[in-house]
Amino acid sequence: MTSRPSRHTHRGLAHPLPAALLLLVLSAALLALAACSPQHTEKDAALSYTIELDFDGEREIDLLQEVTVPSSRLLCSELAFHLYPNAFSETSFTPICPAEEKEEVYYNGESFGEIEILSVETCGKTSNYEISEDGCILRVPCPDAAEDTVTVALRARLLLPECNARFGVSEDGVHLTGFYPVLCMAEDGEWRTEGYSPFGDPFFSESADYSVTLRAPEGYVVASSGEILSSEVKGGVRTTYAEAGRVRDFALFLSRDFKTEHTTAETDGREVEVRYFFTDDPDPRATALLAARAVTRFSSLFGAYPYPVFSVVQADTGAGGMEFGSLVAVTPDASRENYAFTVVHETAHQWWFGIVGSDQLNEPWLDEGLTEFSAAYFFLQGGEPERYRDAVLAATAHYSRFAALPEEVGFSGKMSRPLSSYVSAGEYVAVTYSKGLLLFDTLFTLAGENSFIAALADYCRTHAYDTATADDLAAAFLSQGFDASGVMNAFINDTALIR
Ligand SMILES: [Zn+2]
Repeated sequence: MTSRPSRHTHRGLAHPLPAALLLLVLSAALLALAACSPQHTEKDAALSYTIELDFDGEREIDLLQEVTVPSSRLLCSELAFHLYPNAFSETSFTPICPAEEKEEVYYNGESFGEIEILSVETCGKTSNYEISEDGCILRVPCPDAAEDTVTVALRARLLLPECNARFGVSEDGVHLTGFYPVLCMAEDGEWRTEGYSPFGDPFFSESADYSVTLRAPEGYVVASSGEILSSEVKGGVRTTYAEAGRVRDFALFLSRDFKTEHTTAETDGREVEVRYFFTDDPDPRATALLAARAVTRFSSLFGAYPYPVFSVVQADTGAGGMEFGSLVAVTPDASRENYAFTVVHETAHQWWFGIVGSDQLNEPWLDEGLTEFSAAYFFLQGGEPERYRDAVLAATAHYSRFAALPEEVGFSGKMSRPLSSYVSAGEYVAVTYSKGLLLFDTLFTLAGENSFIAALADYCRTHAYDTATADDLAAAFLSQGFDASGVMNAFINDTALIR
């Protein structure tokens, strides 16, 4: 996302298990824990989601989802899924936005949403399941996988909150991101189950293939991750079918007010369709062309944009912008200059978040810092060196203000630490975006332009559709003959002096 934070919460039990059964499940899980072995991350069978949605045009959606999971992803014969919509519930453990943004986010007064799981089947058989106390994690036991894949079919009902956020009915339309049960990442033999956060992007997911059918009242214009392959109206209902391959997540935005602008970008001799869905833009053609130029430029620098379509959607998700699989959301901004930077920043995320995933909960600077740098570099390359310089100066001034705060405030310049360790959205932005940009600007200066860009292209190629770490980035620089580890460690461990 860009620098204005967004938020979410947790919730209570949607479907509690009887206490005795819960005990049994917990005991079995404890016994099995020693036998758990981390698997995963191999580029074998693809993870895939087939989703059907029936939207009533108000605040309710019926959801059917079938997830096909390579059996190598099973941990202790169990699968775990994030239920992000329950972060928006009344009983959530965490607010979805900082207190100072509440009025703007909840435009119609406080409002709640949720996902209620109605049934679960694994491999065609009705299955037990367990939902965490905060409502945000669904655990499904699975048969020992004799087959290559395990199929989990879920039925659920979504209630949309009224809010300008990533999930809900906003003032301009309907935002459906993180709306479906998302398979957790596995790490060191355990599921990553961190909850929502009032700021930052508390998400970390695998690339997957998606087939999504949405039925909604015909008045809605639909923007979607991937490619919309059909859109038909019958009896007042528009049925939209979309597919997306190897994307980090799947997002839908609906509005009765969307107007559209189309253009194309060039990637590796191939045309990518660029679609811009807007409600309030004095020069939509210019915005669409800017996004297309960014796709073309980043393709030639880092590696070809791999998807057939890139969609840019105007929507207030509670941040200046937010990235999703082959789609980005940008909040309308009165300043054309800020708006242009946000569009390019979100577009760069298609490489740093989308193609190369990273741990946004523990190393958020890795994608945000690189994305901030990429946006600034786009303008430098495009003949606007002053915009690059201004971005670096602004980041220096912004970070220095935070670094000069008295110790009692609790500010830390350490970069690789959990999202939950940040005391405020301001600290998070200063360390992740501003200091992140400064780290990459320093590496750019020291490595030289050619080596620097070659290292990023190598990083992109080596970790495409997978996830990468700071060590992987350092290895990419080393492959170009530049040892970046000293500078990276000085920034990350907060021993570098920035002023
Ligand atoms: Zn961002």
